[in-house]
Amino acid sequence: MMEGQYINLQDEGEINAVIPVAFIVGLRHDIDTTLGLSRGVPVVMELEEQMNVRSSFYVRVRLLHNEDLINILRRAERDGWEIGLHLDNTYSLADARRELEALRSLGFNVRGVTIHGGLYGMLGEITWRVIDGLGLAYAHAGGPPDWVKTPVIPGHHTLDYYVGKYGEHEGMHRLIRGILSDLRSSKASVLSSHPEYFVVSAGTMPVVESRLSPRIRVAKILRKMSIAFYTMLGRNRLAPIYRELLGILGEHVALKPLIDVCRALYSSSCPA
Ligand SMILES: [Zn+2]
Repeated sequence: MMEGQYINLQDEGEINAVIPVAFIVGLRHDIDTTLGLSRGVPVVMELEEQMNVRSSFYVRVRLLHNEDLINILRRAERDGWEIGLHLDNTYSLADARRELEALRSLGFNVRGVTIHGGLYGMLGEITWRVIDGLGLAYAHAGGPPDWVKTPVIPGHHTLDYYVGKYGEHEGMHRLIRGILSDLRSSKASVLSSHPEYFVVSAGTMPVVESRLSPRIRVAKILRKMSIAFYTMLGRNRLAPIYRELLGILGEHVALKPLIDVCRALYSSSCPA
């Protein structure tokens, strides 16, 4: 058992009370930026290697413009990590297919998709039609309309969001409660992060987060300033928090790439 630096005893007691064996938490990392790919992914891999777990990396295809960056993910896939598509074109199936083909043409075994969304983000039914059109083994993208055929993995809790919005301790407490709630209802959940926050701080700006839409310009500027400031102070760094979270969750649930969660939930429609 690791020192409970970020997670309090109440959380651990609750985990023990709620979780029987055979529950599963998928580990997802969305690679949004070159910093996240070049410097964040190697940190995540080293940490997960030490904790003896594997996860899924979803990458924006536009980041794969040089061999060194591509080779980071080739090494990851070779060593047991899953590589999936972090989709930018959420409104055009033709453009989305081009992204998928580009990723596959680099040799990756792509079976899952998550949404980045570039300018537009998740566009509801339009995006679900695009996801279905890709014909992948699974998607992880929120709650689908009932006509969606692609298996969708439930639950989603983003570590840097919780830590940035609520701070290290309150953020951890809320994240664990969210995962427990998913496990009660769906027997599965997903813990996600953005690997760039393994290099810089996740920042903090509770006032901005609660009062401004994340997409407006002033919110983006204030977020960047808070990240720079907190990075200088060495606060809200994800690596030690993530390590502790994996240690504690890993005693109670299986921590797996999302393709394994897909198989656990939808065995027949989720092939190797
Ligand atoms: Zn993204």
